[in-house]
Amino acid sequence: MSQNPTDTFSVTKAETSKIASVDFENLAFGNVFTDHMLYCDFTDGQWGTPVITPYAPMPMDPSSRVFHYGQAIFEGMKAYKDEQDAIWLFRPDQNLDRFNKSAVRLAMPEVPEHIFMEGLKQLINLDKEWVKKGKGNSLYLRPFMIATGHGVIASPSAQYRFMIIMSPAKSYYQGEVKVLIAEHYSRAANGGIGAAKAAGNYSAQFYPTRLANEQGYQQVIWTDDATHTKLEEAGTMNVFFKINDTLYTAPTSERILDGVTRKSILELVKRDNIKLEVRSVLVEELLTAANDGSLKEIFGAGTAAVINPIVGFAYQDTYYELPKQENPIALQIKDKLTNIQHKLAEDTFGWTV
Ligand code: PMP
Repeated sequence: MSQNPTDTFSVTKAETSKIASVDFENLAFGNVFTDHMLYCDFTDGQWGTPVITPYAPMPMDPSSRVFHYGQAIFEGMKAYKDEQDAIWLFRPDQNLDRFNKSAVRLAMPEVPEHIFMEGLKQLINLDKEWVKKGKGNSLYLRPFMIATGHGVIASPSAQYRFMIIMSPAKSYYQGEVKVLIAEHYSRAANGGIGAAKAAGNYSAQFYPTRLANEQGYQQVIWTDDATHTKLEEAGTMNVFFKINDTLYTAPTSERILDGVTRKSILELVKRDNIKLEVRSVLVEELLTAANDGSLKEIFGAGTAAVINPIVGFAYQDTYYELPKQENPIALQIKDKLTNIQHKLAEDTFGWTV
């Protein structure tokens, strides 16, 4: 029986490790990469042999489609090391599923489960010293795929490269986060690619986010493109609001990324009988709740920061400061989730792999 090229991985180990030169106490997020990376090329309608090599720049044809038409997708996930030195992933099946949904939307080939999962496993095993123990420490994993076919022709490429790179991360604290509610710009529209983790969604956010930064806000709360009345996401995170004793978050849609952190929070709060409604919160409702004191908390949820509490928001020319909470639900949820991720609490959901 002929062997499928994707069944075997070609592995070339780095001769020396860079790890001694890395200051693990002062890591800027996503800046330092481990010793190895993985790539796997798609040509002639099929995936080739996955290759693990020392992390290094790679030559590319200047006419590669990714440079011109942005045919690129990615994922963001983390590996954690427990007290017994075992390494755990958090719901990697969800990332694979979302990755392949993104691939379909960008007219790219789906990546076989074996390459994605076994690739992560082999790569993490090789660079396991880079995963540090302790709450807050993790290895950020970045699977991505780019169109490598050459030719400045605005149509899908015939060649692609799937890759995984990995970056050690400390707990991600952004300081006090104030947000600006979008009135003009949008990150996504119905029929668009908002639900895909496509590179272009992020570059399109940079300019409106820079304008918000210049006014003193760290992030933008994106509203629906048609009416700008529904609150949808916060920067690159899903967003939750606590009004009185109920949590609210928007339903996922063509405009909203189906976040793994968001969906895990939904299950956690259900288990713990916290009141939750999955529905869009309107800008108008938020202003009323901020004015009458019923708005208690706003927080973003995503893999990088897990939970990012927001201290205030601006709409038009008015800034609304949120009240300080004794024991914010945002931090309670963060604690529960990170305890499961770091194996400090029992994982009754079977999320850790
Ligand atoms: N929304 C957007 C636009 C994002 O980029 C992310 C980060 N992947 C999220 C939400 C949160 O998703 P997750 O919890 O899967 O990281």
